[in-house]
Amino acid sequence: MGILVVGTVAFDSVKTPEGEARDAIGGSATYFSAAARFYAPVDVIAVVGNDFPLDSLDFLRERQVDISGLEIKEGKTFRWAGEYAANMNDRRTTDTQLNVLSGFRPVLADRHREHDHVFLANLDPDVQHEVLSQSGGPGRPGIVACDTMDFWIDGKRASLLSMLNRVDVLIINDGEARQLVDDYNLVRAAERILDLGPRAVVVKKGEHGATLCTRDIWFAVPSYPVSSVIDPTGAGDTFAGGFMGYLARSGDTGVDGLKRAMVHGSVMASFNVEDFSVRRLASLTENEISDRHDRFLEMITP
Ligand code: AMP
Repeated sequence: MGILVVGTVAFDSVKTPEGEARDAIGGSATYFSAAARFYAPVDVIAVVGNDFPLDSLDFLRERQVDISGLEIKEGKTFRWAGEYAANMNDRRTTDTQLNVLSGFRPVLADRHREHDHVFLANLDPDVQHEVLSQSGGPGRPGIVACDTMDFWIDGKRASLLSMLNRVDVLIINDGEARQLVDDYNLVRAAERILDLGPRAVVVKKGEHGATLCTRDIWFAVPSYPVSSVIDPTGAGDTFAGGFMGYLARSGDTGVDGLKRAMVHGSVMASFNVEDFSVRRLASLTENEISDRHDRFLEMITP
């Protein structure tokens, strides 16, 4: 069954040791849906301003991502800028302009409520709450997962913490996990996050892989080794796309399903870092995904 995603569609300006992209197409919902659609139907809820070139999302439409839930509002599109350190893992946000995202109040259509699974991509936690309330909340058959970022941990902490009690899985990077519960030790940080409500936490560690933590099991996957990392922006969202996409396609949301979803998340993220913006995802094929998935399994299975 399908996935409803709410998140950002954005203009990103990114500097990495490999070069620079200005006002490139980005946003958490864009990356997520491009990746997840290889696995399952995806409906997007997001907002852009009337300065946004809608034809830049043609690659999503061609893949049958349903973007009819994209609201076009008078004003400027959300903008984000970031700069990566020489190790390509550490990132500094240099600018965030919410623009039309301020005051965004999504209204779900009936078809949005039909999806079993919901991904609350990186976005204002108040909007994530709103979508969850309108989508039927707890009691839905599938997985509700969410992501967040330092900007919202700093600015909307209370709303974010109460959200964690409403989701099954939090997908977050290591620095943000530490920041969220104010603990430098990642083991304790994951345990504290579990205390806040979700039944699983996925902690992403850039090139060092990702760990799935529940009360009963820990499961780690490495990152797929990529020799040419150009731009890591959106790696977290594409990881989430592969992860949620696999859960939706397989319908297996138990612990073994979550473990396999980690492998798919790593594979999808590894493609995204190979070029700026959504370029690599736009050219990606199913064969490339299944080849890399098979090669990755060989690498991580004794
Ligand atoms: P990732 O590299 O997976 O963390 O995702 C980066 C994407 O998140 C970029 O395309 C940005 O447009 C988007 N983004 C950056 N800051 C925010 C924010 N505060 N809220 C929502 N999306 C954001």
